[in-house]
Amino acid sequence: MERRIRGRAASEGLAIGPAVILRALEGAHRTKGSIAEEHAALAAAVAGAREAVADLTASLAGDAAELIGFQLALLEDDALTESAYARIERGDAAEDAWRAAMAAEIAGYESADDEYFRARASDLADIRDRVLRHLFGLADDGRLPDGAIVVARDLAPSAFLGVDWSKGGGIALGEGSPTSHVAMLARGRGVPMVVGLGRDLDSLTGVLLVDGTRAEVVIGPSPERMALARTEGDELRHRKAEAIARQHEPALTRDGTPVTVLINISGPDDMAIVPARACDGVGLARTEFLTANLLHDEDAQYRAYAELMRWADGRPVTIRTLDAGGDKPIPGYTVDGESNPFLGLRGIRLSLRHPDVFRVQLRALSRAAALGPLKVMLPMVTNAGELDAARGHLRAVLSDLAKERVACSEPVFGIMIEVPAAALAAQDFAADFFSIGTNDLTQYATAASRDGAEVADYADVLHPGVLAMIAHVVRAGAARGVEVSICGDAAGDLRAIPALLKAGVRALSVSPGLLPQVKAAIREIDLAKLGEGA
Ligand code: PEP
Ligand code: MG
Repeated sequence: MERRIRGRAASEGLAIGPAVILRALEGAHRTKGSIAEEHAALAAAVAGAREAVADLTASLAGDAAELIGFQLALLEDDALTESAYARIERGDAAEDAWRAAMAAEIAGYESADDEYFRARASDLADIRDRVLRHLFGLADDGRLPDGAIVVARDLAPSAFLGVDWSKGGGIALGEGSPTSHVAMLARGRGVPMVVGLGRDLDSLTGVLLVDGTRAEVVIGPSPERMALARTEGDELRHRKAEAIARQHEPALTRDGTPVTVLINISGPDDMAIVPARACDGVGLARTEFLTANLLHDEDAQYRAYAELMRWADGRPVTIRTLDAGGDKPIPGYTVDGESNPFLGLRGIRLSLRHPDVFRVQLRALSRAAALGPLKVMLPMVTNAGELDAARGHLRAVLSDLAKERVACSEPVFGIMIEVPAAALAAQDFAADFFSIGTNDLTQYATAASRDGAEVADYADVLHPGVLAMIAHVVRAGAARGVEVSICGDAAGDLRAIPALLKAGVRALSVSPGLLPQVKAAIREIDLAKLGEGA
């Protein structure tokens, strides 16, 4: 008998496949054996993790391959396991010995003077958990069967990137949120995903149907339902194919109003998802992912930005300065132990506290601006003074570069509007453009965390209060004569697009995988006919 569990839609589409539960490590336990058995168990777990990581390395490219390559090198280094084996000899269980040995190792990396090594602490934590998963007999995310449905309490972006989604598959999460980064990645890659299914993951076994459109998971779907899902899946693919066939055409509403459709880039792989000529440029490039290990490396940053400029081929490219903190911690840079990281030192607040790091990025960006129309965007701006201070750093950097006779150009300098106080005071910001970050704006305005399953229904961009703020920013932008776009996830949410256009927004920046459907949805809208409250 089939059973249905309702959750929240995080990425549309249908996937049918075998459930693979990725259990959280908390609460996992095993029975301790003799010293020899514990030694053998740890050796087998390290070997299993090494094999899984080696498989992964072969299938990845770019930054992801470099990250995993580092993990492989560590797993192949006996020095990492020696102190764990010594602890086992003294009577520790394999998991305790491994945890203690890794804790010492991670602490060493975290206190390193070199930024590069500090940033690697999170890779070590990843390795620690991979080995523990093998030790406890939990599935390792690197070795899922093709087309599997990943079932977990929550999923880290790195775990998502470790799965080969080209063979199909879907995601069913007990917790999580549609606005989390992993949900964004899933939408970008077209992986069906439902979140907020509740704590009882044990019932999600056997064959599962993930329906990312109806926001439900069916356990043991009947043959009729599977047939229906396959037909629906075919229709969806057909609609997508039609939208892709027209993705190069401009997006005009039914009544002929043009809407600018840009894309969001969250990592180098995103450039391969749509051709540049299908979009009007890049509305948001998130540099946390491009530069996590490169905070002091101006040349490496310049190369990454220059690659983006080359890809865009003359179209405007908006690159956001580092938005570390909140849901995007960078070990060794962001503050540990904040009581509420979303309300703490993040984005521009942190950049202004670290002018050395900030200026490296502004130098790399000013150099890249010599290559084409580059726009720099500041995240999490709250006060007009922050924009002034950031401009001060930009001017200083431009003057240094000119003295050094390094090719550079002054970039267009704008801000994200994602703090409610800034939204309501948008008229006071002398920025060259505004881009509304609806993910954060919505969570702050509705007092509902963007990654909290229990309050996900509250974090609704269609709340009249949030829409009123968006409309206010549009009016403030018009009064100042600057462009207003939306780069939060609402821009790619087909349900929200009519309301955003009704609020006066005419530029949307979306996850690249959604671009064809967003353009198709815009073509269906008749602005004159949008009803009250649409
Ligand atoms: C947003 O907050 O809407 C946004 C685009 O920024 P991020 O999701 O990276 O915080
Ligand atoms: Mg944000």
